[in-house]
Amino acid sequence: MTLKIAIDGPAGSGKTTTARLVAKRLGLLPVDTGAMYRAVAYECLRRNIDVKDEDAVAKIMDDIEINQKLINDEIHTFLNGEDVSREIRTPRVSEIVSIVSSYRKVREKLVEIQRKIAEEQDVVIEGRDIGTVVLKDADVKIFMKADLEERAKRRFKELKEQGVNVSFEEVLNDLKKRDEMDSNRELAPLRIPEGAIIIDTTNKTVEEQVEEIIKEVKNKIHT
Ligand code: C5P
Repeated sequence: MTLKIAIDGPAGSGKTTTARLVAKRLGLLPVDTGAMYRAVAYECLRRNIDVKDEDAVAKIMDDIEINQKLINDEIHTFLNGEDVSREIRTPRVSEIVSIVSSYRKVREKLVEIQRKIAEEQDVVIEGRDIGTVVLKDADVKIFMKADLEERAKRRFKELKEQGVNVSFEEVLNDLKKRDEMDSNRELAPLRIPEGAIIIDTTNKTVEEQVEEIIKEVKNKIHT
């Protein structure tokens, strides 16, 4: 039996950590699709490409390879063979990623990579358009949400722990702006997928989120 779990939700809703832990408990491969879009944004910065120039961004998609590997239970993202997991988390990348992710060529290539991974293995795959586009026929669809303030608090703490120099206001504004762009774009906007189980994580610990998803997965499998 195959098992594909799709998790969607806004920035900072706890998707990545939760997906990783659910995958570990169930013996599935966790996939962080946001990291792939971040890798494209990072490559634009590195090549000095104006991200507002869609054609220029589209062009680089022909010669970039992106893949992920699980190393010591952490998802690592590789860009043309180079581990860029740290570099893709900077505020500079966060600032431009939603522009890059709105482009057709970028989405087509990354969706293709994501589908291929999910075809070969059982996955817990998280992003913005997983249940609506990438894996419309996922066995379980989850939509994680949380209040903006709470999401900003979590993201701020995470960045501080990683030694990233950023203020709480900057984090809050980044999340707000990205949510707006991700929800209002033409291609694959952030939406609650049909049939998704909605989990509000505002007052939940990571452990509680993981337990809830595992319960839902077991329910689904047994019905
Ligand atoms: O998940 P994370 O916050 O790292 O995602 C970074 C950005 O990548 C999002 O704000 C969004 O613009 C884009 N993204 C997307 N589709 C996905 C995952 C992420 O457009 N499936």
